[in-house]
Amino acid sequence: MALKKIGAATAAAALALSLTACGGGAAGTTDLSNLKIGIKFDQPGMGLNEAGKYTGFDVDVATYIAGKLGTTPEKIQWVQAPTPQRETLIENGSVDLVVATYSINDTRKQRVSFAGPYFIAGQDLLIRADDTSITGVDSLKGKKLCSVTNSTSAQNVKDKVPGVNLQEFATYSDCVTALVSKGVDALTTDDTILAGYASQPQYAGKLKVVGKPFTQENYGVGLKKGNTDLCNKVTAAINDMIKDGSWEKAVKANLGPANYTPGPGNPPTPAACS
Ligand code: GLU
Repeated sequence: MALKKIGAATAAAALALSLTACGGGAAGTTDLSNLKIGIKFDQPGMGLNEAGKYTGFDVDVATYIAGKLGTTPEKIQWVQAPTPQRETLIENGSVDLVVATYSINDTRKQRVSFAGPYFIAGQDLLIRADDTSITGVDSLKGKKLCSVTNSTSAQNVKDKVPGVNLQEFATYSDCVTALVSKGVDALTTDDTILAGYASQPQYAGKLKVVGKPFTQENYGVGLKKGNTDLCNKVTAAINDMIKDGSWEKAVKANLGPANYTPGPGNPPTPAACS
């Protein structure tokens, strides 16, 4: 009898071990039932933290993906992932995923992997509503621009407008403050983010988006470099989200209030993970 009991216990332990090994996967140790997800905390419509209430398109995308990975919303730990820190947060394991208006590009791919794209945005300009002198990227000569360190937005505008007078802050909300107080003449970043700021009640009649996007920003879900297993699962979730109508619903719910409609190429087809 005693022997039989030991046998059962051993079998149970072996089963538990094999289940653990299965869940962990060969490529990483990500616990998929308890995810740390990096989002923006200060971008209305995309990623916003209002006293512990998280909203925005990226929050909805992240929540949907987490659900497909087996994580219920209350098990998600939201972590602030400012633009300059995203690669580091992924590398040091502070987050499992980053869903934060994060453009896929080759420089970033040297440090992290991406699933996606799940959305295509375009870089534009936010200016004061009474400013008629800025009409697009070609009218920035002599103007003071604001963007964020390490963003594709800062890099793109430096490439397109050589010698541009650009201030680089830590967050886009810092740029909005500078724009309103006339410290700068324009904020440049993705049209999604700009639409969100322009539609805030406190900026009604004060700020406007120029409406002439001049780049293509492919948003990806950032994850640990080389974790193809996780990347494949996230890609499948993005495909499901687009197919079952949840993507469209999330766009309307989060970007509709800012009168933002997705540009050409949306919804995108996610690329294969490499
Ligand atoms: N999508 C651009 C980027 O990833 C700008 C927005 C952002 O900084 O989050 O650099």
